[in-house]
Amino acid sequence: MSASQAGAPSAPASAAQTHAHVTCPFCGLRCDDLEIARSGQALSVTRNGCDKAKAGFERPLTAAQPRVGGKTVSLGEAIAEAVALIKKAKLPAYGGLATDVDGMRAIMSIADKSRGVVDHAFSEAQGRNIKVLQTSGYFMTTLTEARNRADLFIIASDVHRFHPRFFERIVCNEKSMFADDPPKRTVVFLGEGYDTSAATGTRIGDVVTINCPTHRIGEVVSALRTLKKGAPLPADTIAGVAKAQIEDLLARCHKAEYGVIVWVPPGLDFPNADLTVHQICEFVKDLNVTQRFAGLSLGGNEGASTAASVCAWQSGYPLRVSFETGAPHYDPELYAIPALIASKQTDCLVWLSSFTADLSPPATDIATVVLGSHDLKLAREPEVFIPVGTPGIDHRGQLVRCDSVVSLPLRDLGRDAGLARTVDVLAAIEAAL
Ligand code: SF4
Repeated sequence: MSASQAGAPSAPASAAQTHAHVTCPFCGLRCDDLEIARSGQALSVTRNGCDKAKAGFERPLTAAQPRVGGKTVSLGEAIAEAVALIKKAKLPAYGGLATDVDGMRAIMSIADKSRGVVDHAFSEAQGRNIKVLQTSGYFMTTLTEARNRADLFIIASDVHRFHPRFFERIVCNEKSMFADDPPKRTVVFLGEGYDTSAATGTRIGDVVTINCPTHRIGEVVSALRTLKKGAPLPADTIAGVAKAQIEDLLARCHKAEYGVIVWVPPGLDFPNADLTVHQICEFVKDLNVTQRFAGLSLGGNEGASTAASVCAWQSGYPLRVSFETGAPHYDPELYAIPALIASKQTDCLVWLSSFTADLSPPATDIATVVLGSHDLKLAREPEVFIPVGTPGIDHRGQLVRCDSVVSLPLRDLGRDAGLARTVDVLAAIEAAL
């Protein structure tokens, strides 16, 4: 068995191979310390990783072929049919967008050429942050800063469910960049129903749980802001949390040398959740008048942070951009693909989903072209299905991390499944448009 590093040519699929320092594409943390063993076309996570990573890397390959109307065709025939549908469309919609940097660049180019709309499947959740950024701004940190400097973590979402190694890699690390024996950390869980099991180990000091309905976190943070300003609270409990608990949390914030409030936008899934993000971000600003404190937004699963970053640097706007007029136009309400489908304003959906089996296209009767993972679940047979490789398994690529400050290189693990790269399929489609 040989060890392979990034940049080395892949061994033949028939040979066994172990890859070290593999970047995982299956959530926005982009852990880059996995060891993956390959035997033939079967992959297994042999070091680090988590259940989500195992589910992603180890799922068996299925024999998927390009299809048109459910019939197996050549890749060229599938591309030709996709081109015909896009050409015929009055307003093509490019959704899902679970792809790598190259795939996203290609879809932006096609959307521009075909005067379509781009919208990631998780734009609604990401929009909770974007609204705050646009209206009042925020003060955010990075995974690396939090890992090495923070002494207080306030966890305001079920982080462990979305990012299973966040605590292991960012909170519970025994050493930091600045000390072999750094001080213990306090972890405060603010919300309800979270998995708190990962907040353990020698680095962890106090673990505090403040139970309140997740949709009322904003009220508790608002109470913290009220007390911070020296004003009285209007009641003895706020969102079911006793005033004494809120005072204790404020005291812990004041005592912290580097506090961080962490949330996951898809975990704040209730109406007007952007107002909760707003309260958190304003509280962070209040604290920063006299001390260091920061927000840390996670998320970015299914290539969401990659799609958002590429869209911003290509068009100048966040996602939900239309090229219908020949120039990019941003509107988070008008260009939401679910709404465009419901109102039949779009007549062709092109759906990219190259990481997991679960990011399925929405149930719709409009013409649908899917560039999907080999085992993508489909509620109905699309007009065109083209199986594509998973970046980080079947081909190299790059993905932006959830804190949007770095993109990580992805590896070809050499299983040689014969799956096309999304960017190559899109380039062929664009060339024929
Ligand atoms: S936490 Fe996320 S990036 Fe890290 S191994 Fe698990 S799924 Fe992959």
